[in-house]
Amino acid sequence: MRVRILGASLQDTAHRQYASSYLINGTVAIDAGCLGFYGSPQQQETIRHVFLTHSHSDHTATLPIFLENAWTPTGECPRIYGIPETLESVQRHIFNEVMWPDFVALSRKMHPFLRLCPLEAEVPVDADGLSITAIPVHHQVPTVGYVINDGQTAVIIAGDTAPTRRLWEVAHQTAGLQAIFLEACFPNFLKGVAEASHHLTPEMFGQELTKMPRAVRVVATHVKVRYRDEIIRELCALRLPQVEIGECEKEYEFSEVLAGR
Ligand SMILES: [Zn+2]
Ligand SMILES: [Zn+2]
Repeated sequence: MRVRILGASLQDTAHRQYASSYLINGTVAIDAGCLGFYGSPQQQETIRHVFLTHSHSDHTATLPIFLENAWTPTGECPRIYGIPETLESVQRHIFNEVMWPDFVALSRKMHPFLRLCPLEAEVPVDADGLSITAIPVHHQVPTVGYVINDGQTAVIIAGDTAPTRRLWEVAHQTAGLQAIFLEACFPNFLKGVAEASHHLTPEMFGQELTKMPRAVRVVATHVKVRYRDEIIRELCALRLPQVEIGECEKEYEFSEVLAGR
């Protein structure tokens, strides 16, 4: 399985993640914070499945741009997945004829822009050879993390979350789990802000790791760019060998670990 954290800035792309989108195997996206700025329209057209973690703008901002870029007059269109609360917010606050034309209504009258696919928590859906399961986490608005499984390997993209529990229980039960992408949003001195906005500091990030399976790589993402150096220093001070700092546009490859190797 290939996972790429999409670039979300015009300069120093690897280190400035201003918004969130991930691309799995080139055709399945998690979130659309910067998806509409990815590659060419033809490359965006190949992305047939977009799974939203929640409604916040840094995860949905370029959804309209993506749908416009991906649209072709063929009748084929991307599927947009999310829990019902997220899909309802997207319709009410983005496709509302003010922020953007109502692509949902237009899709009933012409070659469609999108198809909305509501998800039920903990019920896997298939997308291009991947099994993807939404697990609720703890954030300001209803939010899920995703367990992504290709039958041999699995990764978790945790979404935005305060300290949480169920996702880590599921992590323990997930065979072939190789990596968890987890937010480390604010530096420790902004713990109050992190708590108010339901995010993690490096200290809280370290506490989350005690609930996870031990051998799994943990990639720190969603690092506030203004405080990046400080957050990285604090993450390194935890001295946790399984932790690495996420880089945008890097291709993370995961393959089956064969017994005895
Ligand atoms: Zn959020
Ligand atoms: Zn966010």
